Amino acid sequence: EPLYPARLASLPADIARPGYDRDAVRTGILHLGPGAFHRAHQAAFTEDCLAAGETAWGILGASLRSAGTRDALAPQDFLYTLALREGGREALRVVGALRGILAGADAPRAVLAALDDPAIRIVTLTITERGYGCDVARGELDEGDADVAHDLAAPDAVPRSVPGLLAASLWRRRRAGIAPFTLLSCDNLAGNGRVLHAAVTRMAARRDRGFGDFVAAEVACPSSMVDRIVPATTAEDRARIAARLGCADAAPVVGEPFAEWVIEDRFPTGRPGWERAGARFVTDVAPHERRKLRLLNGAHTMLATIGPGLGCATVAEAVAHERLSPVLARFWAEMAATLPAETDAAAYCARLRARFGNTALRHELAQIALGSAQKLPQRILLPCLERWRAGRASPVLIAVIAAWLRGAAAGGDPLDGLARREVFAADEWRAPPLRGMIAEECGAMARQGLAARLDALCRAPD
Ligand code: NAD
Repeated sequence: EPLYPARLASLPADIARPGYDRDAVRTGILHLGPGAFHRAHQAAFTEDCLAAGETAWGILGASLRSAGTRDALAPQDFLYTLALREGGREALRVVGALRGILAGADAPRAVLAALDDPAIRIVTLTITERGYGCDVARGELDEGDADVAHDLAAPDAVPRSVPGLLAASLWRRRRAGIAPFTLLSCDNLAGNGRVLHAAVTRMAARRDRGFGDFVAAEVACPSSMVDRIVPATTAEDRARIAARLGCADAAPVVGEPFAEWVIEDRFPTGRPGWERAGARFVTDVAPHERRKLRLLNGAHTMLATIGPGLGCATVAEAVAHERLSPVLARFWAEMAATLPAETDAAAYCARLRARFGNTALRHELAQIALGSAQKLPQRILLPCLERWRAGRASPVLIAVIAAWLRGAAAGGDPLDGLARREVFAADEWRAPPLRGMIAEECGAMARQGLAARLDALCRAPD
């Protein structure tokens, strides 16, 4: 039997559940990409606001790429379980904030219709780096992307890209005299609000110059730094959670107890009081975001690039590995030197090591490695380039780059990968000094083998 509103009252006492009247909640947020992360992070923060009586902020999800989550959750009236795990403990909470999901072939049209409702005042996004249709190295719309090109060429057709969809909706609202919504990106992109603002403005300007100016001036895109480790849910998670609930949840989400959300406070048409749940509102997110992208996401990408070659499958296995553990320390030392002095990197990294070591989560390195071409520039390449320009050697960062190129080369010459300008944007990557260092590292890895090469790197003086 599935999880269903009528079952809430009979769940075991140690399982938290909505204590508010879900039927009295109105939809104020449309969320693009209601995957695992959104449901474990922003929706959980919003749930606290609904529980405190802020009934204007129910969430309508929209999936442009798949209908799986909608199909799983519709029979449950969009209730799902959030499981927070650490050590031997697992706290379960049934979340009620999600009120529906638009999905399937007709989703773009349905989203446009839903966004005509003035009650929707915020559009949040977790659509992965790729979903922005941007060249992440430059932070601009990638006009060579097929969906982006379609939307630029045919602004009145059904949009295919997220920036195209948002520009089309803002156009409809403006014609109807409805204030624009605030756009809140919750993806791991440096300057996520700025990137989204530039992309939507570019789409809008293509339609009409004055409209482009309107979007540039009037649509708020606050940046935000989001943090909670949320691996993909497994069949084992579903079975374990069902056993505790006493009924089946087709799409629970599993994460760590830790959560952080730092948001630029620019919401001209209002927002939920997310600070109730621990969110912090600031005027500049950049230092928080940079610390998190480089130390957390950067380390994830490093472990996902190198770990599988040492036989590791998960983050917890990788941080416990006798060869990788010292590499991680060296990696963090190189990264920390690119952050402002007031960053308390030592304490942050000590905490990260404990979070990464959480064996109650099975965070697959293969999941982190997905879309690595979009992740590498901001997580690894830019910090390495900053160090290079400051005259500092970066043996571990160069080793990560070499290992990534070797993995991507599939038997060919790893150095050919340096020609990929959408990844290696700066010409310095193709000039003799950096190219030579990478070539040397690729050669050393090929000769010595990965494990011996990592040992040698860690034995070298700092
Ligand atoms: P997921 O695979 O569960 O969900 C991804 C969602 O993005 C799905 O709803 C999918 O339909 C949508 N999507 C994918 N490609 C898209 C595209 N091209 N256009 C539009 N929508 C698209 O992944 P997740 O764990 O929910 O993570 C999503 C994002 O959240 C990450 O890429 C990252 O930016 C951010 N994030 C995740 C975590 C985490 O620990 N999982 C932590 C911090 C930030």
